[in-house]
Amino acid sequence: MRTLTVLGATGSIGASTLDLVRRNRADWRIVALTAHSNALELARLAREFGAEVAVVADEAHLPALREALAGSGIEATGGPDALVEAGARGADVTVAAIVGTAGLAPTMAAIEQGGVIALANKEALVSAGDVMLAAVARHGATLLPVDSEHNAIFQCLCGNDSADVRWITLTASGGPFRDWSWDRLVTATPAEAVRHPNWDMGAKISVDSATMFNKGLELIEAHHLFPVGLDRLRIIVHPQSVVHSMVEYRDGSTLAQLGPSDMRVPIASALAWPGRMDTPCTALDLAEIGELTFRKPDEERFPATRLAREAAQAGGAVPAVLNAANEIAVAAFLGGHISFTRIAAQVEDVLGSYAPPPPGCLSDVLEVDSEARARARMLVTST
Ligand code: NAD
Ligand code: MG
Repeated sequence: MRTLTVLGATGSIGASTLDLVRRNRADWRIVALTAHSNALELARLAREFGAEVAVVADEAHLPALREALAGSGIEATGGPDALVEAGARGADVTVAAIVGTAGLAPTMAAIEQGGVIALANKEALVSAGDVMLAAVARHGATLLPVDSEHNAIFQCLCGNDSADVRWITLTASGGPFRDWSWDRLVTATPAEAVRHPNWDMGAKISVDSATMFNKGLELIEAHHLFPVGLDRLRIIVHPQSVVHSMVEYRDGSTLAQLGPSDMRVPIASALAWPGRMDTPCTALDLAEIGELTFRKPDEERFPATRLAREAAQAGGAVPAVLNAANEIAVAAFLGGHISFTRIAAQVEDVLGSYAPPPPGCLSDVLEVDSEARARARMLVTST
């Protein structure tokens, strides 16, 4: 039996993780489950899985959590410090599934305990970059990618020498607007943006998929996770989301990982690593799918991948600025304050106005993040 913490237990990745745990109850003991504000759902999960502690990040919801857990023997805590303490309790495996840089501090706390970190929260790695990787090395933690593309690449790299890699190709579905003209993109609504053709995900990553910032963040994520240069990382649009990514070696062999569009596959791969476990996912029926197609991304309509590549090239604090500006722009778009095409324009504006020095520690990263957010918010109100 291994211990498990799920940071972001009430979200899409959290639910997929707990679905796998539910089917393999004897294998896991739950340490901490966390949520932003949904105290009732969190309490329900904490009771079902017999968690040691349930943490609600927004302290205003702590009284409701306490009440819902009364008599259960499960600890109820709340607020940002409690979230970090949940990560710091340590577990054999911590699934980092909070959305945005809100997940950075608790994920870093978990890294400091030296266990396995199953990382879905790409924004944390994009922002903290080298600071996070240095902590992973210092504390002997193991970072396993849950993001489907990175999990695919991780699997394709196993048993190979990264010096032999010619290309790493990240596949992108292209999102719901991949065939939309620029004029139509200008009018895209939040409801249209969150309706992803292949994947059922949280609102933020769904918008990121529509803008292609998701692939941009993933490019930066891949640059940190895999020891090949940025010039060996490329993106290809693959609307069917069956090939989750590919690695081409210098002898001309390309290895790919294929699977259904179900995050339980990469989550299971991380939970069972270096072994395998059963999942209830539907088997891949390639004859039924019939065709797999690929095309080049269009950076005219979707400038996000260009911005992300430039940010990765610049390094230091620049990816943290890009990420923070994007988080604010996505929230503004979802709130109906800016248009869809303003998201990338606004990120580019923030990148042009703010060039902080490379962060040396977590508090530097958080400072850059908060300053970039403030600048992005000012742009929203002046638009
Ligand atoms: P989601 O919105 O469904 O869930 C987010 C979780 O984080 C929830 O439990 C929520 O309560 C918590 N949360 C939100 N804001 C918080 C805050 N300020 N403080 C503390 N907790 C907070 O998101 P998701 O789709 O599950 O995505 C989670 C992460 O996984 C994201 O970084 C996303 O990019 C990544 N990811 C998701 C998918 C997917 O299929 N959903 C695939 C790959 C990667
Ligand atoms: Mg992905």
